[in-house]
Amino acid sequence: MKEKRIRRSFQREQIYQLLAQGGHWSAEKIYELLKKEIPTLSLATVYRNLHALQEEGRAREIALDGWDRKLWEAARTPHLHFVCRVCHRVEDLDVNLSALEGLLVHVPGKVEHIRGFVYGICNDCLKQHPSATGSNPTEEVRDADA
Ligand SMILES: [Zn+2]
Ligand SMILES: [Zn+2]
Repeated sequence: MKEKRIRRSFQREQIYQLLAQGGHWSAEKIYELLKKEIPTLSLATVYRNLHALQEEGRAREIALDGWDRKLWEAARTPHLHFVCRVCHRVEDLDVNLSALEGLLVHVPGKVEHIRGFVYGICNDCLKQHPSATGSNPTEEVRDADA
């Protein structure tokens, strides 16, 4: 019994170490990478440990609008995320959110953390698909005239 508990927390630490490297991870990706080192690992265990890490305040779940995909990251200072709508990459934006706190004077409670998303097209996708910017109606009109 005792041995089992130790193994479970070992798995949690392995998952945390992966998140602590930075970036944003799906549970499936974490499972795929750690499965090689921990053959007894299951996807359900990964989920359980991610939720446990979140309760411990060491990890955060990132749920993106309109996607069933959820990502996880190690808890750090509040930051915004840039989300590419073409390749779905998620990058941290180092924006100082403390200025926002001054604007949140009428919150009917205590703010614990602020999470925000900025949606757009990343530089790589802009290079590969220049037409991806065509969703801007004025661009389309200009192209038609040319
Ligand atoms: Zn992209
Ligand atoms: Zn992040």
